[in-house]
Amino acid sequence: MTTHQAPGDSPYRDLPSVDRLLADARVAALVPDHGHDAVAGLARTILGEYRQAIAEVGAAPAEPVVDALLTRAATAFRPSLVRVVNATGVIIHTNLGRAPLARSALDAIQRVASGYSNLEYDVAAGERGSRTSHLDATLCRIIGAEAGVAVNNNASALLLALSALCRDREVIISRGQLVEIGGGFRIPDVMRQSGAHLVEVGTTNRTYLRDYAEAITDRTAAILRVHSSNFRVVGFVEETPLASLAELARERGLLLIDDLGSGALLDTRDFGLAAEPMVQESVRAGADVVLASGDKLLGGPQAGIAVGKAAPIEAMRRHPLARAVRADKTTIAALAATLDHYSRGDAVEAIPVWRMIAADPETLARRARRWSRACGPYGVAVEAQSTIGGGSLPGEELPTTVCAMTPPHSPVIGGSADALAAALRAATPPIVARIVDDRVLLDPRTVDPSEDWHVEATLSAICGTAPLEPEGAGAGR
Ligand SMILES: *Cc1c(COP(=O)(O)O)cnc(C)c1O
Repeated sequence: MTTHQAPGDSPYRDLPSVDRLLADARVAALVPDHGHDAVAGLARTILGEYRQAIAEVGAAPAEPVVDALLTRAATAFRPSLVRVVNATGVIIHTNLGRAPLARSALDAIQRVASGYSNLEYDVAAGERGSRTSHLDATLCRIIGAEAGVAVNNNASALLLALSALCRDREVIISRGQLVEIGGGFRIPDVMRQSGAHLVEVGTTNRTYLRDYAEAITDRTAAILRVHSSNFRVVGFVEETPLASLAELARERGLLLIDDLGSGALLDTRDFGLAAEPMVQESVRAGADVVLASGDKLLGGPQAGIAVGKAAPIEAMRRHPLARAVRADKTTIAALAATLDHYSRGDAVEAIPVWRMIAADPETLARRARRWSRACGPYGVAVEAQSTIGGGSLPGEELPTTVCAMTPPHSPVIGGSADALAAALRAATPPIVARIVDDRVLLDPRTVDPSEDWHVEATLSAICGTAPLEPEGAGAGR
């Protein structure tokens, strides 16, 4: 028997109603986890797409609506922000969330945020306390500053410093330091926002002390130095040493503000890297306010740290903007725990970014070889370079060993490095690698060893090799 579509009859009628979809046991099973309204909303979206297909091509997709809904639910209800495995070898990867936190910082967040805390409460006195008190002493002890305050991030610390200390006055900065930090954050724009007036001196590659001195007027509030953290000018270059700027500022009654970015508290030269200016050095050299990021080389949570002389820090604390950019309790807890490692002298062991910087080359090579074995004929361990990233130590590299993968000619990957990288990103959690010369490179330096099994299992699955035996299995046989 053939079916005839009567005039007025239509494929629309064959579509189930939202209620009927929700009555399906497999769809109903989504409701406890995701809520009735969200599942019903997804059902309406899918039904809308089916109706549109009918309108455009005269027929609904062949796939039953329920199946389409279940497939979509698998991605639609996944949290947007998820853990990923960073196999790029870029340690402070801004797109991947910069610094992973130390165990102690995570514990501190858990302790403070799972209940109430004395965030702004003086327990001994039983009265209102100060949220900045929790970090003040630690910052001063480690850095040797008179005072310190933590805010939302370094960008807001700079905005706050300029707003509180330089509004309607002039700020002198070298033309070589009128930089864009990233994401459109440009020093001249921040300056404008703060109400301070920018006075540019010197040239892109050379600025002398006399350039600063000649620009000082009775309207000048400060000299600002911005560390060119994400690029390097090489060749015929002259920057005025910070100590000379400090002396000039002191003589002329100005403030010296030093925006460092990275927030290195350890000497990067001890790790075979170029020197990155250290926060303590800037304070010692006489800067009145030093600004640093919490989640670059400091290895803590996203934060902006301002340390220096008591008076300007106090002025920053009291400025109305301070309230708008203040750090929250989880940040304060994590930052305090991170800073404690510097006090105790175990930062290199406990703080992930330093652990990665200091990683033993032989251990990295052994892991890269194991990953390569998981790839069978498609993987080989080769020497390569890791980078610091996050606008710290541009051009500086750390020797490493990576697993270099040649894209298999499988149906999914078809010999394409892009397709191979996409297959790695399709894993749960996604594995992010880099592509160099049509090969996909995976660097163990930035992967926590506890995630090696996931990397190895994913590589085996993609390359069609037998899973590796657990490390150490068969030893002694
Ligand atoms: C990274 C950086 C900033 C911005 O810091 P965030 O913590 O990302 O806001 C500001 N100044 C310098 C010199 C930087 O390197």
